[in-house]
Amino acid sequence: MGKKSLETKIVTAGRSAKWTQSLVNPPVSRASTIVFESVKEMKQATANRKNKALFYGRRGTNTHFAFQDAMVELEGGVGCAVYPCGTAAITSAILSFVKAGDHILMVDGVYEPTRDFCDKILDKMGVETTYYDPMIGEGIRDLIKPNTTVLFLESPCSITMEVQDVPTLSRIAHEHDLVVMLDNTWASPINFQPFEHGVDISIQAATKYIVGHSDVMLGTAVANERCWEQLQENSYLLGQCTSADDIYLAMRGLRTLGVRLKQHEQNSLKVAQWLAEREEVDHVRHPAFESCEGHEFYKRDFKGCNGLFSVVLNRGNTEALTALLDGMEHFSMGYSWGGFESLILANENINSLRTVAKKDFAGPLLRLHIGLESADDLIADLERGFERLNAVLNK
Ligand SMILES: *Cc1c(COP(=O)(O)O)cnc(C)c1O
Repeated sequence: MGKKSLETKIVTAGRSAKWTQSLVNPPVSRASTIVFESVKEMKQATANRKNKALFYGRRGTNTHFAFQDAMVELEGGVGCAVYPCGTAAITSAILSFVKAGDHILMVDGVYEPTRDFCDKILDKMGVETTYYDPMIGEGIRDLIKPNTTVLFLESPCSITMEVQDVPTLSRIAHEHDLVVMLDNTWASPINFQPFEHGVDISIQAATKYIVGHSDVMLGTAVANERCWEQLQENSYLLGQCTSADDIYLAMRGLRTLGVRLKQHEQNSLKVAQWLAEREEVDHVRHPAFESCEGHEFYKRDFKGCNGLFSVVLNRGNTEALTALLDGMEHFSMGYSWGGFESLILANENINSLRTVAKKDFAGPLLRLHIGLESADDLIADLERGFERLNAVLNK
């Protein structure tokens, strides 16, 4: 067999005839009960229940197995657990590897609900969280305690977009036998290969680019040999499962992930370049730009970027930002991202979400998701937005 390039894998991954029954796409197999014709069959299914045998709905059907195979082929690792959303994937992965009295290291630029989970649920269970600066590098060594069990990364970070030195952090964590988890949502399964950079468990909010059409919530966690069995069994015990319909849509989204990301990338680079030259903009926080912390790690480790980035403005206030945002024609306001459509939101106080890596930004931050529209239309929309912003600021 020839070597498969990434583009080919995106098209072929998970399409074993065993799951698809020779259709191009796996049928939507909905199930709670699986019925057996004989005691022997039932015993066989029970013995193989952790290894993609039809057993009980919560363990998945052929639709799930096809998607799980595809994720492992694209991201690496040995097994993929699926969850009803990205947040469930994050919380279940962490819960699978901590007990009362343990300590975890959490990146300070983490997705806000992950932080809330640590502060409100882990804390209650007697698991302590230390937040670390995303750019800490070798310094992570000083934060590891005898009871530390998990190092959690998110690269690039949410909103502020710092790119982490994943290989260095993973290497040090492994010297102390920690489990390294990465929220790999920004890269999707194709722009960063987690297992080649030392990660043990790679998490995706499939809700974002995998589904790609803003209509399904889904999460995945892919694990290596070391962590798979524990992750799989703990997630199952936590009752984590998903509908075959949602998995079908994720699988359908996956087939166009490569071409969609290329277009998101091209559009976002064009819009970010234009923004970088605007006098209203202090700096661009896009991993592909030098002005983004960790840009050198982006260049070293990533295959490409996508539509999501932020910019920091020189000045602004709530009234001016409202004028900008309320008048947008092509950008909607929304908290999620990863669909085909462009989105924008403002953040006036990023430090309320940071413990150790506080920022001294010149002005408010805009986070943009650049969709598949014409970049020129989006730029024209932003230009009119800046006119509204300036009209208020110069009053
Ligand atoms: C959206 C997001 C999540 C959570 O995904 P849901 O499916 O909405 O729960 C987790 N991590 C990152 C980086 C995200 O952007």
